[in-house]
Amino acid sequence: MEALTNRVKEVSRKPMSFSERLYIPNILKGMAITFSHMFKKQPTIRYPEQKREFSPVFRGLHVLNRDEEGRERCTACGLCAVACPAEAITMEAAERLPSEEHLYREEKYAAKYEINMLRCIFCGLCEEACPKDAIYLSETFAPANFTRKGFIYGKDELVIPNQLTDPAGFAAARGAARNN
Ligand code: SF4
Ligand code: SF4
Repeated sequence: MEALTNRVKEVSRKPMSFSERLYIPNILKGMAITFSHMFKKQPTIRYPEQKREFSPVFRGLHVLNRDEEGRERCTACGLCAVACPAEAITMEAAERLPSEEHLYREEKYAAKYEINMLRCIFCGLCEEACPKDAIYLSETFAPANFTRKGFIYGKDELVIPNQLTDPAGFAAARGAARNN
């Protein structure tokens, strides 16, 4: 039969020696390797009880930010969606009503804002493109999910808790290293 590549290697079928047929030397060799690792420093940690420190440039789950009065900052300009190389962001804009001035900072706001976390490559370009400081990547990450739909994050998951009514939730969503 003609080979598909030039990496074909003939399998050696020489009979096993007496010591190979005993298996015991190789078992002992394997156990010695295993025991030697018991006294070495573990490269792994017991997550989630133990957690590693994030790098200062770690980019995690997105947060839609609020201003100091607790109003949503996003004005649905779409620059983040244009900047996104993975086309992970979609949104629908709406006009703010006079009665909603305490909810939205700008006259236009995102009535719907979604990020597909399965597409996102956490590059941070959306954060850099935003002129309103309305989106940033926090030090938390998207939890596991059983469905693809569960990775499409809407405003419910993305908008940060209001710092005036839920300061603990606000701090947790911002991540440990962000203090302002
Ligand atoms: S982090 Fe990058 S890939 Fe993810 S939504 Fe923002 S711009 Fe798109
Ligand atoms: S997050 Fe920023 S860039 Fe994206 S739509 Fe809102 S204001 Fe515009």
